[in-house]
Order: sequence, then C-alpha cells, then structure tokens
Amino acid sequence: MSYNRIALIGLGLIASSMSLAIKRSGSSAHVTGYARSSETRDTARRIGLCDTIYDDFAPTVHNADLVVLCVPVGVMGQVMEDIAPHLKSGCTISDVGSVKRSVIDLVQPHVPEGIHFVPAHPLAGTEHSGPKSGFAELFDSRWCLLTPNGANSIAIQNLANFWKSLGAKVEEMDPDHHDLVLAVTSHAPHLIAYTMVGVADDLKRVTNSEVINFSATGFRDFTRIAASDPTMWRDVFLSNRDATLEILGRFTEELFALQRAIRTGDGDLLHDYFSRTRSIRRGIIEAGQDTDAPDFGRIKNK
Ligand code: NAP
Repeated sequence: MSYNRIALIGLGLIASSMSLAIKRSGSSAHVTGYARSSETRDTARRIGLCDTIYDDFAPTVHNADLVVLCVPVGVMGQVMEDIAPHLKSGCTISDVGSVKRSVIDLVQPHVPEGIHFVPAHPLAGTEHSGPKSGFAELFDSRWCLLTPNGANSIAIQNLANFWKSLGAKVEEMDPDHHDLVLAVTSHAPHLIAYTMVGVADDLKRVTNSEVINFSATGFRDFTRIAASDPTMWRDVFLSNRDATLEILGRFTEELFALQRAIRTGDGDLLHDYFSRTRSIRRGIIEAGQDTDAPDFGRIKNK
C-alpha cells in the first residue's frame, strides 16, 4: 500500500470496517481516527479501532497521506473546510459518501491547491451504524466506485489499489451517472421500504403485534432496510433529489400499471412482469453480489 499514514474522519460503520480491513490486509500504515463524541471515541478505543483516536481534526490529519471523510453526506463540506488548513501537501482526500455530485460540489471548493481529491463510494453496508457495527469483511467482493472528477491519475491508481487491498472491486464512473444508478439500486428502494413499514404502522386494522409476529420474508426485509440510520438517509435523499425523484416517478407509473392489472384481472401482464424481474434477480446472484442468498449456490452453479 502506498500510504504510510491514513486518517479516517467519523468512526461509524464504514470507517470502523475500513480500519479493521486495513489491519486485515497486513498494511503497516498508521491509522488515525477522528470522532466528535466521547462515546464513539471511548467505544472505538475499547474495541481497538485505529492506532490513535483524536477529538480534534488537526492531529488526526497531520502528516496523513490519505484522509477519508466517513461522515454523513450533508456535513462533508463543513468537515472539509475544517480540516483543509491541516493537510499535508500532496496528500489525497477521499470520501465514502453514498451520493457523489453533491459531495463534489460541497467538498471541492475547500480542497487546497496541491491536494488530490478522489471521491469514492463503497457499495457495501448494513442497516447498523456506529463504531461497533464494523467488520473487516464488509467490502469483500463489493464494488467501490471512484468518481475522480479530473484528479491526478497516480492519486486515482493509489486509491484504487487501496480499496482493492480492502477486498473491493474498483471501477470509475461519472458522478452524475453514479447518482442515477444508485437512485435505482439503493436510494428509491430504501424510500419504498421506509414507506411500506410506515404503511404497516399506520394500518390500524392490522395490529403491530400481528405485523411483528406474522411478518413474511418480504416485509421482514423491508423492516431491516427501514431500520437504516435516519441521518444518513435523510442526507442521501436531500442530496440526490433529482435522480431519486425521477426514479420514484417511474416507479409510481409502474405501480399504477400493476394496480390496474390486479383490478382488471390481467394475469398475463402480472406473470410477464414477474418473469422479467425474476431474471434480474438471477443476474445479481450470478454476478456474485448476493452471496448470502439461500439460492446463491443453486443459481450460480446452473
Ligand atoms: P454511521 O455509522 O452513522 O457513522 C457516521 C459517523 O459520522 C459517526 O461517527 C458520527 O459521529 C459522525 N458524524 C456525524 N455527523 C458529524 C459531524 N457533523 N461532524 C463530525 N462527525 C460527524 O454512518 P456510516 O454508515 O458509517 O456512513 C458514513 C458515510 O458512508 C455516509 O456518508 C454514508 O452515505 C456512506 N455510506 C454508508 C453506507 C451504509 O450502508 N451505511 C454504505 C456506503 C456508504 P458520532 O459517532 O459522534 O455521532
């Protein structure tokens, strides 16, 4: 690994997983971590995350070759402004934010001359948050998308190698295209899950205990997704507004079409639709992107 000193800003799920994955990779890099709350710092120290943990940006980023912003998307610009005076000349700044255009717009204006900014997004996560939720295997075989925005090619290559050393597969993507792809694959599905769980909660004819006791797998999966961190997801929707609204508009049109098919008894339309979506599921499993799926081995080996 080409970084001797790595600074992680914000010690939640992603940063704690990165810290553990860096150690697992055998890297000798010194890893520093910043956390704003004493509770997070105490927990991180107790469970052995990072080599040194600070409550101040200056010592955290001092002499760091790589600084990774691991905070919610909405505060990335402010954090970048605060750390900028303390950065080592020639270092690389990156982030792990789930939205890329707004992060670039917020962060880039505060990046000093001579610092390489290479935005990134590891497509890996769980519904858990905080320093205790991390694990070293989180990024294994997951994609990490880099949206370099004109950065220096050596800085991009070094960051790509870094993510590969944590187990990820790396690809470059245009930031606006990234936001559209993620609106389809992650952001709109999260909103739908939040909505469905909200609907179940509001529906007074079905009691909460019935929902909990008799929840079928579809709904259980929704509740898992809808348990995701409220701050993170509020920021994702507000930061990826246009792409999310575009996909939700299309979703609503399709939903109306399926609603009409159910009302008119159009079984052919429903069957054709579900056959098409089933093949998408197979594609995800064949690409190795849901190795936990019970049908992974069966479909993969076919
Ligand atoms: P998390 O577990 O909730 O951790 C967020 C961290 O940010 C916490 O340490 C929190 O500090 C800190 N923080 C929040 N506001 C801050 C502020 N104003 N100043 C300084 N620190 C602040 O979140 P996460 O899941 O690791 O997500 C971090 C980033 O990764 C987000 O940008 C998210 O979009 C992205 N991401 C998340 C996932 C996922 O599935 N979770 C996947 C890929 C990318 P305290 O502990 O003191 O509250």
